[in-house]
Amino acid sequence: MQNSSTPFSSRLSKLLLISLVVALVVPLSGCPDPEPEQRIYVLAIDAFRADYFEEAETPTLDALAENGVFYREAKVSAPSQTRVNFVTLPTGTHADRHGVVGASYRSPDFAHRSTDFPDYDGAQEDLPVPTIFEVLDREKGWETAYLAMKGYELVGARGADYQVHGEEYIPEHIWEERYETEVNGSWDQAVEYKQEMDDHLYDVLIDVVEQRDPQFLLANFAGLDYIGHQHGAEEDYLDSITHVDSLIGDFVEYLEGEGLLEYSTIIIPSDHGMTNIRNPENTIMDGGFDEPDFPELDDKGIEHAAYSNGGLAFSLYVEDSNRLSETAEWLQEQDFAEYIHSEHDISGLDGTLSEINLNHPERAPDFFVSVHPDYTVAFESHGQHGSLRDSDMYVPMIYSGAGVAEGVEVEGRAAAENVDLAPTVLEMLGLDPDVHLETQGKVLQEVVN
Ligand SMILES: [Zn+2]
Repeated sequence: MQNSSTPFSSRLSKLLLISLVVALVVPLSGCPDPEPEQRIYVLAIDAFRADYFEEAETPTLDALAENGVFYREAKVSAPSQTRVNFVTLPTGTHADRHGVVGASYRSPDFAHRSTDFPDYDGAQEDLPVPTIFEVLDREKGWETAYLAMKGYELVGARGADYQVHGEEYIPEHIWEERYETEVNGSWDQAVEYKQEMDDHLYDVLIDVVEQRDPQFLLANFAGLDYIGHQHGAEEDYLDSITHVDSLIGDFVEYLEGEGLLEYSTIIIPSDHGMTNIRNPENTIMDGGFDEPDFPELDDKGIEHAAYSNGGLAFSLYVEDSNRLSETAEWLQEQDFAEYIHSEHDISGLDGTLSEINLNHPERAPDFFVSVHPDYTVAFESHGQHGSLRDSDMYVPMIYSGAGVAEGVEVEGRAAAENVDLAPTVLEMLGLDPDVHLETQGKVLQEVVN
């Protein structure tokens, strides 16, 4: 821009005129509105695999990453499963602390238990650690919201003022087909239905922001996860990343239109990645969810229970501790067992449960088994997750907007983890995470500096 040639005196008189007008106008309108307080929107993208962020067309996420702090390969909690990580995110703890080790587990007396039994409210009461919703309510009086899609994310929602389950806002004809690879014989229609699930979540998001204006909100765009499972991490999966990107772009425009963007922090995490299954018909533990076991172990008289973790891993519980070595030997012979973790002193295994933060004192399995992607657990599927593979454990993570540093890309795998989100948000708000949470995470200094 060229220098203005307007004489200084003329500019000064303009300034004086403007001041006079402002002085006249302001008292007439009373006290100006106070500045809106900060809003924090955590918009999770379920099953957003790190290396696919590179490939997908994502103008909104690219801009958020460029203007904020971007972690290319953030690490999720093990098992790399939705309900586990959606408790990790608002509590800053791993499964060994928050106790949501998977969908089901066996208690020390070998009784079957579900992590959302008897209902989400009951499971929330059971959580032994504080949630960020409780802290923000108590310390700042903030209104908060947790917009789930699958429903079981809500196990981590204790203290959120407004909680919504996908079944409440997704039309029944779409909800009922969410696990189908084809709808009316059409693969494309099945994909469209799953993308539409995200559209419906978006509508709820706008309604909640307009009507309740929560200052902290966590929403889960989960259409991508259904697409990854039913259709694999292929072209439709990439298109669906672009679809969510456009919805987040609409949200940014909405905030801008409402004059809220400059007060808003947008955080994009994910709960796990997605691994392509090479032979979906190689299904293990296919007795269904009611009979989750291995006939070969039954034949040996080994009482056991196995529960799928996301379809590419399982937790195995053995009733008689004298049969553990024998069970380990059998597992090691199986082609499907890629990594075997156990806290028991058995040689030749791949690691302990403590190393992967899964050694919960009362709920830990005897063995946590990551399955090779030539196989799938419990049901035929083109994509699964849950394992310790990089494609399941690493996701992008973006912090952008109010209170966040700009233009920082943090190199290094696992520089950020899901367990870091809650402590980082509290630090950003001037609350000491070590005082208010029982977190196992760290404050991401690049974000708050
Ligand atoms: Zn998920």
